[in-house]
Amino acid sequence: MSCDFLSLARPGVQKLSPYVPGKPVEELAREFGLRPQDIVKLASNENPLGPSPAVREAIAGAFAELTRYPDGNGFALKQALAAKLGVDTACITLGNGSNDILELVTRAFVGPEHEVVFSDHAFAVYPIVTQAVGAKAVSVPAKDWGHDLDAMAAAITPATRIVFIANPNNPTGTWIERAALEAFLDRVPENVIVVLDEAYTEYVETDDVPNGVDYLPRYPNLLVSRTFSKAYGLAALRVGYGLSSPVIADALNRVRQPFNVNSLALAAALAALQDEAYLIESRRINRQGMQQLEDGCAALGLSWIPSRGNFLAIDLGREAAPVFQALLREGVIVRPVANYGMPNHLRVTIGLPEENQRFLDALKQVLSRG
Ligand SMILES: *Cc1c(COP(=O)(O)O)cnc(C)c1O
Repeated sequence: MSCDFLSLARPGVQKLSPYVPGKPVEELAREFGLRPQDIVKLASNENPLGPSPAVREAIAGAFAELTRYPDGNGFALKQALAAKLGVDTACITLGNGSNDILELVTRAFVGPEHEVVFSDHAFAVYPIVTQAVGAKAVSVPAKDWGHDLDAMAAAITPATRIVFIANPNNPTGTWIERAALEAFLDRVPENVIVVLDEAYTEYVETDDVPNGVDYLPRYPNLLVSRTFSKAYGLAALRVGYGLSSPVIADALNRVRQPFNVNSLALAAALAALQDEAYLIESRRINRQGMQQLEDGCAALGLSWIPSRGNFLAIDLGREAAPVFQALLREGVIVRPVANYGMPNHLRVTIGLPEENQRFLDALKQVLSRG
C-alpha cells in the first residue's frame, strides 16, 4: 500500500489550488490537429513583437560562457537598473521572474501565525505564495473590479505581515491613482510590508497611475516588484526585480537561490533595458490594439473593464467558459478567468493588429451561434 503523501503535506499546501497558466500553442495544436502557425495566442499577456534583435544578439553573446555559473549578484544588470531608476544597487533584488520576488518576500517574512492581505480578482500568485508558507490569506472584496484600498487597510490586523497590491491589476486591468495610493501608504502600519506589483508599469502612458519608485524614500516598508516578462518581451527567460529599502532587500537575498537568475536572462535583460525603441514600439502596438479591441467589442455590443495593461477583461454577459472552448476550436486562445471570481469575463491580451482581428472575427462567429 502506498502512502498518501498529500495528507502529509502542510495544511496550506493541501488546500492550495495550483496556478493555471494560459494554454500553450503546441498543446492546442495537438488536441485539435491544428497547425501551430494558424493559432493565435492572446492568453498570457506576452509581448506580441517577439524579442528585439539587440536581445537576440546579447543572448548569442552569452553562449560562450554557458559552462560557468551566472553572476549570482547580477552586478551589470543591477548597475544598469540603479542608473535608470535612480536607486542604490543595495535596494535591488533580482528574481527568476517577478514571481520569485513575490515568493521571496513571503518566505522571508511570513509564517503560519501571520496573515497576508490582497484583493478579490487580483493576481493568482498572491494566495499561492501565502498558502505555501501556511499563512492565512485574507482576500478583500473589490470595488468596481478594482482594489478597495480603504477596505484593505481596514483588513490589516496585528497578525498582518504583507499587503499585495497590483497596479495595474491583472486580470482586471484596473489601476490605483496617486492620491489613493498615498493615503493607503500613510495608513498602513510601518511593520507591514506593502508589495506594489508593477508588472505592467511600462505600458502605462497616462499620468494617473503612480510610479512606485517615487515612494521608496518615504516608505521603508514598500517593496516594488517589476518584470522583464511583459513590455520588455522576455517572458520565457524569467527575470524580474524588487526595489525596496536595503534591509528588506537583504532579507530577500538571504532566502533566494544563489543563482536564481540565469546568465542568458541577465544578458537579455541588460540589452532590453537599453533598447528604448523596442519599448516605444511595444507601447504603440498596445495603444493601437487596445483601441481596436475596444472598438470591436463595442460593435458587438459587449462591455469591458477599462484597462491600463496590455490586456482587456471583456464582459460577455453570460458564462464565458463555453465561449472560451468555442474560440479554441477556431484556433484562438484567450484566458477564462472564472478562477478569479469572474465567470462572465474573458481576458484577452493585446496582440498584433491581425491577431486582434482574428480574435474579434472568431468571437463574432462564436457569439452569433448563440
Ligand atoms: C505577469 C505578471 C507578473 C509577472 O510574472 P513574471 O514572474 O515576472 O513573469 C507579476 N504580477 C502580475 C500582476 C502579472 O500579471
